[in-house]
Amino acid sequence: MKGREIQILNNNEIEHSDKLAQFMREIPKVELHLHLEGAIPLPTLLNFIQKRNKNSSIKNLKDLKRHLTYSNFTQFIKVWLWKNSFITEYEDFEELSYQVLKSLSEQNVKYVEAFYSPRDFTFRNKRLSASGITESLIKGKKKAFDDFGIRSELIVDVVRDYGPRMGLNLVKELSGYLGRGLIGIGLGGSEKIFLAGLFAKVYGEARELGFRLTAHAGETDGAKSIWAAVNELKAERIGHGLRAYEDPRLIAFLKERQIPLEVCVVSNIKTRACKKFAEHPVRNYFKEGLMVTINSDDPTMFDTSITKEYLILIKKFGFSLEEIRKISFNSIEASFMTEREKDSLRGVFDKEWKELISKYLKG
Ligand SMILES: [Zn+2]
Repeated sequence: MKGREIQILNNNEIEHSDKLAQFMREIPKVELHLHLEGAIPLPTLLNFIQKRNKNSSIKNLKDLKRHLTYSNFTQFIKVWLWKNSFITEYEDFEELSYQVLKSLSEQNVKYVEAFYSPRDFTFRNKRLSASGITESLIKGKKKAFDDFGIRSELIVDVVRDYGPRMGLNLVKELSGYLGRGLIGIGLGGSEKIFLAGLFAKVYGEARELGFRLTAHAGETDGAKSIWAAVNELKAERIGHGLRAYEDPRLIAFLKERQIPLEVCVVSNIKTRACKKFAEHPVRNYFKEGLMVTINSDDPTMFDTSITKEYLILIKKFGFSLEEIRKISFNSIEASFMTEREKDSLRGVFDKEWKELISKYLKG
């Protein structure tokens, strides 16, 4: 990022954490690693539940919150599927993308690249198709753009567990949406069981068709999984990349190529991929000059938000505001936007950061 450096950036100047939280809420942001299904706002989910089951014992947000708790990964998956079971109609998907983008725009997120996993729904509900789901999400995101000015693109998640053949079919079925709301593919699911190499053909085909490529790697599996994502899938970005530190050669490689890491700190703690904040490598990765971006993954499931993720960088890892600013710009750089779009967004970020600095630090 070219431009003027911020002169006064000392966190001590912001005395109250409420004020700091408000500041972080207002900074301009880009979100690159967010699953729409895991970001569903609680009131929207409550609405869906009550629409499907008038006699549901879940009457309010408090009841719902109680249902969304889990203490291990098996329970997490159970809760995840339970929540998805209320998203059954095309109109629900339209509402889903609209409401998620609305809640992001309230945190001054300007641009989002959001995952969705259509197979999780079409697999169980034969009335739905991946194209229909995509179409509906695009409708919702267009409406969100009209109402709130928030821009977004979709990334279809080829969940590893469904295997490469289903992935290939998905890529072929959805390629017609490229340039119309869909921008890329991602690879979620069981990283340790279904290795990235299995999907080399899917990624090769996707690349040919014009999909941009990202893949979850180094979240539950180690550095070798990240190498596979980069070498065998030609992934342009890495989802999480948490365990890159296991291989210094990989760190050097990621740094030299400036391959972006979609870091999601709270997610890593909640899934126990990382035991505690003190062990999370985000601070070191940033200091070492890796292309670190900050994201919220499944904010509803992990009781986080993109705002909280930024706050945590300051409170738990001691990032200065200047470093926070740099991270916010990294997300523009790491996005799949065109160079022109990136430049224009950098201009917006620059202006808003300046205004916020004078509002919060000089006033
Ligand atoms: Zn994810």
